Amino acid sequence: MTTTQVLIVGAGPTGLTLGCELARRDIDCLVVDKAPRLFPGSRGKGLQPRTLEVFDDLGVLDAVLAAGAPFPSFRMYQGTHVQWTRTLHDMLGIAPVERVHGVPYPDAWLLPQWRTDELLRDRLLELGGRIEMGTELVDFVQDDTGVTATLSRNGTLDRVHARYLVGADGGGSFVRKALGVGFEGETFETERTLIGDVRAEGLTGTYCHVLTTGDVQERFSLWSMPGTDYYQFVASMTADEVPELTVAAVQKILDERSGRSDIRLFDLNWISVYRVNVRMVDRFRVDRVFLAGDAAHVHSSAGGQGLNTSIQDAYNLGWKLAAVLSGVPDGLLDTYEDERFPIAAQVLDVTTHSHRRNFRAPEPGQGSPDIFQLKLNYRGGPLAVDMRENPGAVRAGDRAPDAQCAEGRLFDLFRGPHFTLLGFGADTASSVAEVVRGQGDRVRARVIEPGIATDATFAVGAAFRNYDIDPAGPGALVLVRPDGYIGVVATDPAPIQNYLIW
Ligand SMILES: Cc1cc2nc3c(=O)[nH]c(=O)nc-3n(C[C@H](O)[C@H](O)[C@H](O)COP(=O)(O)OP(=O)(O)OC[C@H]3O[C@@H](n4cnc5c(N)ncnc54)[C@H](O)[C@@H]3O)c2cc1C
Repeated sequence: MTTTQVLIVGAGPTGLTLGCELARRDIDCLVVDKAPRLFPGSRGKGLQPRTLEVFDDLGVLDAVLAAGAPFPSFRMYQGTHVQWTRTLHDMLGIAPVERVHGVPYPDAWLLPQWRTDELLRDRLLELGGRIEMGTELVDFVQDDTGVTATLSRNGTLDRVHARYLVGADGGGSFVRKALGVGFEGETFETERTLIGDVRAEGLTGTYCHVLTTGDVQERFSLWSMPGTDYYQFVASMTADEVPELTVAAVQKILDERSGRSDIRLFDLNWISVYRVNVRMVDRFRVDRVFLAGDAAHVHSSAGGQGLNTSIQDAYNLGWKLAAVLSGVPDGLLDTYEDERFPIAAQVLDVTTHSHRRNFRAPEPGQGSPDIFQLKLNYRGGPLAVDMRENPGAVRAGDRAPDAQCAEGRLFDLFRGPHFTLLGFGADTASSVAEVVRGQGDRVRARVIEPGIATDATFAVGAAFRNYDIDPAGPGALVLVRPDGYIGVVATDPAPIQNYLIW
């Protein structure tokens, strides 16, 4: 029997992100996947701004930006006539996010999921992580010391002992079923979505081409996939309309729905039909076994949240698992469920709302959901400590914004596995020194002078504005967690020192 500290089941975006998080903290982990190779389809193609920030921290952002493209505009056709072209923001009815408010990557990014998976796999290997394809988890038992898993490699069984096991094994999760964890929700029984990757002749420009004969509800969409000459096609239909999974059958649907015959599809690389399930687990943890990503929640692809929420699960769990394996109290791991359960519920609502809206313009006054995931927060949770009587707009539990300081950019300071202590105002210098004493590499610190805030993206002085701290008021100490959320806001060191038991 071999051993590892964490066995991660599933080499999708969740398992690979978690693997990177653990490997960069020198935690021994093994990622296994029953498939012979990484998933070949483009399915979760929209990377939200918050995911780009996670990728920045993990060291894959440059590769992601080089391989992908800005999220394209939607181009609506009636036959060959272009009816309109709208940006994602137009479609959502929201204003573009301002970089000036501490959001360095304000726009969604397009990258086929197979490429995202490849880049995460490459980063995992670079960090010294291990991944075994063609290796299926077929059984596991747990006790107080860990989990003993049975793996099948081409029918040959082998046992691995791990301190923790993470089921990142997708919507049909074997781990979830073996645990007997409930997966409550609904299935949209009568609807199906046909999706796949294909090459096409007859279209020009980089868009989400929405082809119709006039009725947007009967559309056939073709998304240009960056870095390739493939398109992702998507067509919703009723269960009894599902065709054979061949390029000829897909071509027939395109011809009918577009009313045109000048677009030719060929080289079908991947095709799938799926039913929308809107479900989530009733527990994210059973003792030493965790559920993350699609294994814990599935929903409509409308709003492009699935892959992104899955990556955020892994990012929340990674630093906590590593900390507990390095000796901090196990209770930290309970906060994974405390924090991610409400987020999963919220994402189910957001995606169902987007699904039902189905390309209709938002009603006047109807708020648009935060699909960019920048406002998702852990306020009020067990790891959010705000000592101020009147907290400002940015509070403990919120995502820590970026900003430029005289010494450099905050996101550069955050990058890595440590906590970051920000002292707002020169008066905080002695408190900052007191907190970091004896913490070694665990805590990095910076004392920030007010400077002069301008509207420039990364103007010196922007930190006070982006954290909503009054430069003329008393100084403030802000502790940023390793996953980029604000853990504590205080005026004296004690609450921060207490927090650093984690
Ligand atoms: C058809 C389809 C279209 C989608 N479209 C979109 C979209 O447009 N936008 C969006 O944001 N999201 C979309 N999604 C969702 C997105 O793809 C998922 O949210 C994302 O892949 C979840 O990642 P994951 O790592 O949790 O699971 P997955 O990517 O499903 O990975 C799970 C892995 O676990 C492995 N596995 C399963 N059981 C075992 C076992 N017993 N032992 C070992 N390995 C195992 C599987 O082989 C798989 O590789 C779509 C999903 C589907 C299915």
